This record gives sequence, C-alpha cells and structure tokens, in this order.
Amino acid sequence: MKVTEHFQNANGNTLFTFEILPPLKGENMKTLFSHIDPLMEFKPPFIDVTYHREEYIYKQRENGLLEKRSTRKRPGTVGICAAIQNHYKVDTVPHLICGGFSKEETENALIDLHFLGIDNVLALRGDCVKSEQRFVPEPDGHTYATELIGQVVNMNKGCYLDDEQAYHNGTDFCIGVAGYPEKHFEAPNITSDLRWLKKKVELGAEYIVTQMFFENQRYFDFVNRCRAEGINVPIIPGLKPMTTKTQLTLLPSLFHVEIPCALADAIESCADNKAAAQVGVEWAIQQSKELMEFGVPCLHFYSMGKSESVRKVAKQLF
Ligand code: FAD
Repeated sequence: MKVTEHFQNANGNTLFTFEILPPLKGENMKTLFSHIDPLMEFKPPFIDVTYHREEYIYKQRENGLLEKRSTRKRPGTVGICAAIQNHYKVDTVPHLICGGFSKEETENALIDLHFLGIDNVLALRGDCVKSEQRFVPEPDGHTYATELIGQVVNMNKGCYLDDEQAYHNGTDFCIGVAGYPEKHFEAPNITSDLRWLKKKVELGAEYIVTQMFFENQRYFDFVNRCRAEGINVPIIPGLKPMTTKTQLTLLPSLFHVEIPCALADAIESCADNKAAAQVGVEWAIQQSKELMEFGVPCLHFYSMGKSESVRKVAKQLF
C-alpha cells in the first residue's frame, strides 16, 4: 500500500514509522530483524530502508603505488525491503538515490521494486562520496532529486528509457522526498531551498520527510513557510533520540542541524552515555508529544541501527 494511503486510513491518528540502515556487508537478516522486532508492537505501517553509495579506499600495491578501490559497506536495500515485507507484512520504502546510478540502473532497480510488490520510494539525490568535495553524478545519471522524480513519474506513466517501444503497463510508485527545516547545507538560502522543494512536489512527490531537528519551532516554521509557498503535501517530522555524548558534535557535522542549548547542556553534564541516552529519550518524548498535539500524520524515527532508544520513546506514545 502507498504511504499516502496509510495516512488517509489513519483517520487523523499519528502513525509511528522508522528508518533502518542495511546491515554491514557480511551480516545477515537475523541482525536486522533483531533491531526491527522490538519496534513492531507499535505497528509501523511502513519501514524505510536507506541506501548507501560506494566509498573509495586506497590500497598500497607491492610496487608502492596506491590503488583506488570502490567498496560498498551496506549493500542490499532492495533485497532487504522485500525480506521485511515478506517477514512482517508491512510496507517498505526503499531510498533511491541519484549518486552512483546511471538512468538505466535506476530503471532496473525500479523494475525490481515493482516486481517485488513495493509501492513506495523516497527519491533523493544522495550525499557526495566522502573523498569528494561536491556531488558528482554518473555520466548518464541524475544530478538532482527533481530529475530522479521525473524518471519515476515517467515510469508510472509507462514511459521507459527505450522510448522506441510502447509499454502499456506503468509502475505505480508513491514518491516521497526530503525536506530540510534548517535548510539543505548547499542551498544559498531557505527561499531557494523551498523553491526546489516545491518543484519536487509539482513534479510528483506526494509527501515530504524532514531531516532530523531537535527544536520543534524549526519544524513549525518550516511547515508554515511550505504552506505559504503552496506546498500542501504531508510533511513528516524526522526525529532522532540522541544516544551518546559524541553525537553532540557528530550530528551537527553530519546532518547540518543545530542542537538547542538546553539539550546540549543536559547531555554535556551527563556522566556517561547511559545517562546521555536517557536525556535523549526524554527530549524526544517531549518533542513527539508536542508534534502529536500539532496533528502530524506520522512520527518518523531515525534509528541509525539502534532500536533501544526509539523503543523507549515509542512506548510512551503509542
Ligand atoms: P535535492 O533535492 O536534489 O537537493 C540538493 C540541493 O540542490 C539542495 O540544496 C537544493 O536546494 C538544490 N536543488 C534541488 N533541486 C535542484 C535543481 N533542480 N537545480 C538546482 N538546485 C537544486 N542520503 C543517502 O545517501 N541515502 C539515504 O538513504 C538518505 N536518506 C535520507 C532520508 C531523509 C529523510 C533525508 C532528509 C535525507 C536523506 N539522505 C540520504 C541525505 C540526502 O541524500 C542528502 O541530504 C543530499 O545532500 C540531498 O538530497 P536531496 O534529495 O534533498 O537533494
């Protein structure tokens, strides 16, 4: 079922959903299910599975020269989505990125997803490769999420890349996209960022999931600005309970988000990570309660491979 249909069927109740990372290469589905199992009692209607592009490592050859090798640490998004749907009978939302994909590879991935009965995709540009300064698309790939959305929408209409052929059966993906209450870090300003977000919706995105934020006012302001711009699709808040003291600097550097003083001070004064995680859980519960009162259709949690804190938060809410 489509994500948007789940929102409609919820009759105004707030849903609980979360995002998981594919396990590291060499792990198996048992590892993954052990993170998902503790969250299933809160009845997520769908689970997002992230996509991780290749990284480059340098290996020294016998002659002393360095060899650049591509490695993918967390492959398997498509297979994991199918396994989750099969095992838990819930929908999945595979993240689909432009980075590292040619248009043809994207088409093939979408065909696989379609055959597997997956009805949703979150269409993203993806981050740049760690060793590169800026995002570089594949020679025949997409540069922005807008272009990727265009390809999915075309396939939904039955237009595939080899337009010599007339195909009658299209796919029927519900498309979600990313939004940034604190602005995407590359955007020159929030107005420009919102203009592109609006474009994503005009092209066919049916809902938005936000980057994590730790101050609800950021989300409320973002929603107000989106509505003023004429962006009227559901905007799902993304939440991350902080779990360690190092996340105080790690999350801002990785995700370009601000940690409010009250939370930062509380985490800093914790004696250890156990205490920090407790502060993170309590903060996320307060955030969630206020967002539910605001009437959000869904609370979407970034589990980042750790379900324990998300479970503690959900236990108080659902
Ligand atoms: P875009 O929408 O393409 O925007 C990128 C930048 O370009 C923005 O600054 C925007 O303002 C601007 N822009 C947009 N369209 C155009 C255009 N047509 N012309 C000119 N400028 C434009 N990354 C992963 O690698 N894997 C994941 O699984 C993943 N999941 C995510 C889930 C969520 C909910 C979020 C919020 C982010 C996720 N990311 C993931 C990170 C995301 O890929 C990065 O933030 C990336 O830098 C931008 O992706 P985007 O889809 O928002 O890009």
